[in-house]
Amino acid sequence: MDIRENIARVRERMAAACQRAGRPEEDVRLVAVSKTVSAESVREAFEAGLRDFGENRVQEAAAKQPLLADLDITWHFIGHLQTNKAKRARELFDWVHSVDSARLAEKLASEDDGPRLPVLLEVNLAGEGTKSGLSEGEVNGAIAAIEQFKNLDLRGLMLIPPFCENPEEARPFFRRLRGLAEKIRAARPPGITVSELSMGMSHDFESAIEEGATIIRVGTAIFGSR
Ligand SMILES: *Cc1c(COP(=O)(O)O)cnc(C)c1O
Repeated sequence: MDIRENIARVRERMAAACQRAGRPEEDVRLVAVSKTVSAESVREAFEAGLRDFGENRVQEAAAKQPLLADLDITWHFIGHLQTNKAKRARELFDWVHSVDSARLAEKLASEDDGPRLPVLLEVNLAGEGTKSGLSEGEVNGAIAAIEQFKNLDLRGLMLIPPFCENPEEARPFFRRLRGLAEKIRAARPPGITVSELSMGMSHDFESAIEEGATIIRVGTAIFGSR
């Protein structure tokens, strides 16, 4: 398994999807999901040109990041975050994709008066009980909560669709997330941008890009199966 080759292949797939969608390649940020992956492999991916890495556990990131402190990495938190770990997450991460309650937003905000933390709201469009995320109906309340916190910067929405063998089956969910963001943009004051859509993983990121993803989160296709 060659990480550099894998990244080149992912970049090709991204470029083809952008072309099909008539979007510039710079519109889509690739976050390499490095959960369970060694620090050496992260370093290899960095040397191959990647700068954004995603982790889903605070403890794992706390152990791995010091080994990579010499690299200028942007760290994304993408997992379920317990409120009692919000303070630590804020110290370790540059972005949090998975804000799934107003309470978590409050915890992320209240601990710090430093720079604004870019956050995304995770939306559970399929209403799957096994997954965290706000229902569509809860999104407006969460936005209102975030607006009160000067040190949270609401950037957009994040989605983990139900697992489907066929990536085409995830497409309607990607489309719905984009529609939801458009609805929010139309209804909110100009200060609220909600321009980022974090959606698409190794097996379905092409459909996500075609439906407007601005951030894709790719693990297996870069680092191999976990
Ligand atoms: C693990 C994970 C990914 C990456 O999944 P792959 O199928 O390995 O690309 C993306 N997003 C989240 C939230 C994850 O937990």
